[in-house]
Amino acid sequence: MNKLNESVQVLKGIGSSKAKMLLRLDIISIEDLFYHFPKGYKDKGIITKIKDIMPGSYYNVIGTVESKAMESRSKRGLLITKFIIVDETGSFVIVFYNNRFIKNTFKIGDRVIFSGRTSLINNKTSMECPEYEKLTENNMNLISIVPEYALTEGLSQKEMRKFTYRALEFADNSIEEIFPPEFRKKFKLAEINFALKNIHFPDTKKSLQRAQRRLKFQEVFFFQSYLLKVRGRSAAEGKGIVFSGEKHARDFIAKLPYSLTGAQERVLEEVFMDMKKPDAMNRLIQGDVGSGKTIIAFLALLNCVKSGCQGVMMAPTEILAMQHFETIKEYICLGKYDIKVDLITGSMKSLYRKEALESIKEGMTSIIIGTHAVISEGVEFQNLGLVITDEQHRFGVRQRALLQSKGINPDMLVMSATPIPRTLSLVLYGDLDISVIDELPPNRKKIETYFIGSDKRNRLYNFVKKLIEEGRQAYFVCPLVEESEKLELNSAKEYCENIKKNYFKEYNTGLVYGKMKNEEKDKIMTGFKNGEIQIIVSTTVIEVGINVPNATVMLIENAERFGLAQLHQLRGRVGRGEHQSYCILISDSNSEEAKSRLKFMTKTNDGFQIAKKDLETRGSGEILGTKQHGLAEFRLVDLSKDFDIIKTSKEANDFLYKNNEIKKTEYQKMVKYLNDKFEKIIEEIALN
Ligand code: ADP
Ligand code: MG
Repeated sequence: MNKLNESVQVLKGIGSSKAKMLLRLDIISIEDLFYHFPKGYKDKGIITKIKDIMPGSYYNVIGTVESKAMESRSKRGLLITKFIIVDETGSFVIVFYNNRFIKNTFKIGDRVIFSGRTSLINNKTSMECPEYEKLTENNMNLISIVPEYALTEGLSQKEMRKFTYRALEFADNSIEEIFPPEFRKKFKLAEINFALKNIHFPDTKKSLQRAQRRLKFQEVFFFQSYLLKVRGRSAAEGKGIVFSGEKHARDFIAKLPYSLTGAQERVLEEVFMDMKKPDAMNRLIQGDVGSGKTIIAFLALLNCVKSGCQGVMMAPTEILAMQHFETIKEYICLGKYDIKVDLITGSMKSLYRKEALESIKEGMTSIIIGTHAVISEGVEFQNLGLVITDEQHRFGVRQRALLQSKGINPDMLVMSATPIPRTLSLVLYGDLDISVIDELPPNRKKIETYFIGSDKRNRLYNFVKKLIEEGRQAYFVCPLVEESEKLELNSAKEYCENIKKNYFKEYNTGLVYGKMKNEEKDKIMTGFKNGEIQIIVSTTVIEVGINVPNATVMLIENAERFGLAQLHQLRGRVGRGEHQSYCILISDSNSEEAKSRLKFMTKTNDGFQIAKKDLETRGSGEILGTKQHGLAEFRLVDLSKDFDIIKTSKEANDFLYKNNEIKKTEYQKMVKYLNDKFEKIIEEIALN
C-alpha cells in the first residue's frame, strides 16, 4: 500500500544485480532512494530560447535535431560536422570538428541540451563543439541543475539519476504529507512531494532552496522530537520534585577553603531555582575545564539528599568516577555529614557491588557515583531525585534517558566542558536550559602551549626534568598508535621504559591505560595525587576530569591524532594550581591541515573558539556522537552552518508543545509517523 516501502526492484531497470549495488549505498526501498540526496549539483545555468541567442556568448539551449549531420572537409582537411537544431522560437547550427562519431550520435528528432559558446560562421549563428546531453527520460533532464550522487562500483551517475527519476514517477506525487498545511505555512515549509522532486531534479535554484529547507527542517525536527520523546517531556511538566535542602547547601559553602566565583554563584542560583520548582530541572552547565563544575554538582546533590532523595552522578570513565567519589567523600567529611556514598563501576568486585546495590535499593546510600554501570539492569533506586551526568558529550541521548528513567521524573543536570554553540545544543537537547560558568577561579595562570617536532625531544625532556626537579609533575600522553590493544599497551610500556632509562632515572613513572584493573589504576592515580609518582604515562584515559593541581606539564605525543576539543580537554588537566603550566604538542605530521590545527591550539585557550573550529574542521556527526547511537543522521543539515533551520525547528517544537497544539487532530499523522520511526530506532539500538 505504501509505495515508499516497496523495494527498489519494482522500478524498471533495477534487477537483483543493480539492487545489490544499491544496497551498498544502504538503498533498499523507494524511500531510501529518495533520501539518497545528491551530494552536489551540476549547474547548467539558464536555458536560453534560440531566438534570444547572440553570437559570442555562452548558452544552454534545449533543442530538437532537425537535420541529418552533414560532414565536409576544410581546405586543410579538417573534418567538419554540422547539423541544425530547433526549438519553438527558432533554429541554429551546431558545429563539431574532427569528430567522426558525431554523425551517428544524433538522429533527427533527438532532444538534446547543448552548452557552449556561440559565434557567427558564414553569417549564421552557430555553437562550436558544445557539451551535450540527450534527453532520454521524459522530462528528467529538461532542467538546468543536474544532481550528482554518491556512487558505488557498477553504478553510473546517469543510472542513479534515472532510478531516482523513475522512483519519483512511481510515487506519482502520492507521498503522504505529515505536516498539516497551516503548520507548513507557519514555518515556510514546502510540500513533501515538491521537496523530494526538487531536491533531486530542481526546476530552478529557488525550488532547490525550498526543497532543501523543507528536508533540512525535517531532519532537525525529527531529531528534536526523538529527544523530547526520550525525555517524556510532556509527561514531565509540573510533576517534578520540589527540593528543600537548599539551606544546608548554602551553609556548606562557608566551609569551603575558597569562595565561589561570581559565575559559580550565578549558576548555583539558577540550579537551585530549578530545583525548587515543581517542574523537573533540565539544565546544562557549561564551563571550560577547571571552571569548577564539581562543587556545583555537589551542592545540588546536597540539596537533593537533604530533601530525602537519592542523587546519582555518572561519569564517562572509571578514573573520573573514582575521582568524583573521592572528592565527594572529602566534601562530606568537611561538612561532617552522615551521608553514605557508593561507587558503582563495571569492574568492581561483585561482593562489594552486591552490597552497594542492596544499600542503594534500600535507600541507605544517598549519593551514587559511577560509570555507565549505573544505568545497567540490576541497579535500582529507592527514591532517585537528581541525575547528574558529567562530561555529558560522551554519553548518548539514550544513555541519559535510561539513567533518567531510573527515577520518577528526576531533576536532570548535565555538565560539559566542551562548549557547544547554542544552536548545536538546541539540536542536542531540544529545550535544555543552559548555565554558563564563564569565569575561572582566581590566580589561574594561562597555560603556555607549544607545538614541536620530535627532533626537539631532548631539549623538551630536559625542560620537563627541570620542572620536576622544582617539584612539579607531568602527564605524558601517547595515543593509540597500534591497531590492537595489546600492541598499543606494549608501545606505551616501551615508551615508559625508554623515558625512565634514558631521561628520568631518578623519578617514578606510572603507566595508565584503558583496560587496566581498577585497583591498579586507583593505586597509580593515588600515587600521583600524593606526589610519589612524578610522571604518568597514559594512553588516552586521562582525557577528562582528573584534578591534580601540582601537575604542570601535559605532553602529548602524536598530537595530530586528537581532535581539537580533545586536546583542549587534555590541556585542561594542567593549569589547575598556582604554578605556571605547559602543554606541549608533539607531532611530525606532514599534513598542512594537522599542522594548522595544532598551531591553532597554541594561539588560544578559549574552549568556545576551539569547539567552533573543531566543528568546522571535523563536522558535527563525530562531535555529537549521534551517529553511533542511531538517533540521527544529518544528511543535509550542516550543524555548523544551518542555524536558521535549527532555530525554526525549535520554534516549531515550542509551538507544538507549549499550547498542546500537538494534541489536535491534524497533527496525529505526524505523531504516528514519529512514533513508528522512533520504535524502529529503539529496536535497532536494542539489536546492536
Ligand atoms: P571542572 O569544571 O573542570 O570539573 P573542577 O570542578 O574539577 O573543574 O575544579 C577544578 C579545581 O578548581 C578543583 O581543584 C576545585 O577545587 C577548584 N575550585 C573550584 N571552584 C573554585 C573557586 N571558586 N576558587 C578556587 N578554586 C576552585
Ligand atoms: Mg569536571
